[in-house]
Amino acid sequence: MFKAIHQNDTVYFAHCYPYSYTTLQTDLQSMKTDPLRAPLFRHSILAKSVAGNNIDLLTITKPVTCPEDLVSRKGVILSARVHPGETNASWMMRGLLLWLTGASCEAEEVRRRFVVKVVPMINPDGVIVGNYRCNLTGYDLNRQWMSTKKPSAGKAIPEVCAMVGLLERSVASREVVFFCDFHGHNRKNGIFMYGCESEGNDRATAGGSGKKSRKTSGKPKPPSASARRMSFTTAPTPQQPTKKRACTPTTIRLPRSTTSASSQDTLTNPSTPPATTTSTNTSTTTEPDTTTPPPLPPPPPPSPPQPKPTPKYSERVFPYLLSLSTPTLFHFRRCHFHMPASKRGTARISVHRRFNIAHSYTLESSFLGSQGFHFSKRDLEKMGEGVGVRCMTGFVLRVGGSGCMGLL
Ligand SMILES: [Zn+2]
Repeated sequence: MFKAIHQNDTVYFAHCYPYSYTTLQTDLQSMKTDPLRAPLFRHSILAKSVAGNNIDLLTITKPVTCPEDLVSRKGVILSARVHPGETNASWMMRGLLLWLTGASCEAEEVRRRFVVKVVPMINPDGVIVGNYRCNLTGYDLNRQWMSTKKPSAGKAIPEVCAMVGLLERSVASREVVFFCDFHGHNRKNGIFMYGCESEGNDRATAGGSGKKSRKTSGKPKPPSASARRMSFTTAPTPQQPTKKRACTPTTIRLPRSTTSASSQDTLTNPSTPPATTTSTNTSTTTEPDTTTPPPLPPPPPPSPPQPKPTPKYSERVFPYLLSLSTPTLFHFRRCHFHMPASKRGTARISVHRRFNIAHSYTLESSFLGSQGFHFSKRDLEKMGEGVGVRCMTGFVLRVGGSGCMGLL
C-alpha cells in the first residue's frame, strides 16, 4: 500500500533506481571536469543511435608517451544498458567507471596493463523513450549480434553494428582478454554471471537446444584447484579446431602475444617471398615466356583469428573469484556457462565465438535483491568495483605480473 503524503506531489513508481540518459551525461561531465580523473580517460562518440543520440565511448588507460607501449597492452571491453529498463546495470557500471578512474593502486595497475573500452549506454533511444527491452525500431538488441551483416542493419540496429565494429577494431589492434555486458534480471536473486563454456564443454555446438542444455548442464561447479592453476600458470593444451565464424577478413590479425613467428609470416608477408624462393618456384612451373618475370601470385586471404586454446573450466575462474571478494552480493552457484542455441545472438555468445574471447560474460543483477535484502545504489556500485578489482587480480597473473598475487 502506497500513500502520497503531500497533496500536489507527483509520485513515480520505478522498477529500480532510475538512471537516465541525462544522469549518464551528468556523470560523464563530472568525470571530465575532475582534474584527477580527466587525464585518465578519453571520451568519444562511438556512433549515433537510430534517433541520432550519441552512443558514448570511454577509453581508459594510463597515458603513454611511446605508442608501442599502448599496443602491447591487452584489451578489456565493457558495456551496459542494451536493455533500457535495466537501470541496475548502470549503477554497477557507474561504480566500475569511478573505480577505474580512481586513485587506488589496483586501478592504477589496470590502467597500466590494459586499454579498457567502456560503452556505458548502448541503447540511449530506448532509455530516453522509456522502452524496457528494445531500441527505437523495436529490436531486442541483445538478440541481434548475428544480424549485423544484413542490408538493413545499419538503419535498424546501428547500436549493435557499432559494438561489433568496436570489437573488430579492438581485436585487430591488440589481444582482447575480457568482455562483459551488464544487465538486470527479473527472476533469480542476487548478482551472478553467464559465461561461455570452453569448447570441450560446449553443448550448443553439439546441437542442443537451450532447454535441453539447461536440463543437462546441472549446477555449475566451482573450478577445482587444478583448474585454477591451469588457468593462469600452465601452458594450455591444444584443442580441436572449431567452426567459429571469421571476423572481417581485411582487418583482423592475430594478437601479437599469441602469434607465432610462422603464423606472423603467413599473415604479414604473403606476397613478398625472398628472391631465391621466387626463382625456385618459377623454375618448377611452366613458363611460356622466360623474358619477363611471372606475375606475383595474389596474396592469400588473411587467416581468421585462431581459436585460443582454453583450459577446461577456465571461464569459471573469474566469477568464482568475484564470489570470494563480494560474497554477500555475488553468487557463483547461480552462474551458468552453457550456450543454448536461442541465445546465439547475444553479445556474450557472439563475442565469444566471433572474436575468440574466452572470457565473455553477462553480469546480471537481480531486481529482487539477494537473500532477504534489496540492493542499494551503493551495493550495485560496489559490485562494479568488484569487477574492476577482479579484472586486475584475475588477469594480471596471465600477463606475467606478480605484485598483486596477494589479493587472491
Ligand atoms: Zn538484460
